[in-house]
Amino acid sequence: MKEKVEEMRGILLSMKETTLAEIQKSVRTGTDASEGESGGDIYDQASSERDRELDLLLGDREREKLRSIDEALDRLVDGEYGVCEECEEEIPLGRLKVLPFARYCVRCKADIEKIQAQTRRFEEERVYREIAFTEEEEP
Ligand SMILES: [Zn+2]
Repeated sequence: MKEKVEEMRGILLSMKETTLAEIQKSVRTGTDASEGESGGDIYDQASSERDRELDLLLGDREREKLRSIDEALDRLVDGEYGVCEECEEEIPLGRLKVLPFARYCVRCKADIEKIQAQTRRFEEERVYREIAFTEEEEP
C-alpha cells in the first residue's frame, strides 16, 4: 500500500507538471496575437497576475484536469486515495495507472457516465425544441 501511494504520487506529480506545461504553452500562443506591442514582459509580472492570466485563458478541460490531479494528491495525503467515492471499494491499481486521478471504480464510473449521457441528451433535446420553437413561423 505504501509503495502504491509513492508510485501514484510520482505519476500524479509528473502529470501535473505536464499539464502545467501544456497550459503555459497554450497561454503563450493565446497571447501572441494580441500582446505584440507590450514587448512580451507579461510573464515577468507578479505570479498572482500570471495566475489570473492562466485562469482566464485556461481551457475548462485543462483546468478540470489540474484540479483532479490536485484533489488526487490531497486524497493521497489523507489516505483516501484509490477508494471509489461511490461504493468505497478499492480501485484496482491497473485502473489508477491509466487514470491516476480516478475517483470511481469502473462500474460506478460507467453508471455515472450513463446518467450524464442521459442528462446531456435531455439538454440537447431541450435546445433543439427551443430552436424549433423560435423557427415556428417558417412555413
Ligand atoms: Zn465504485
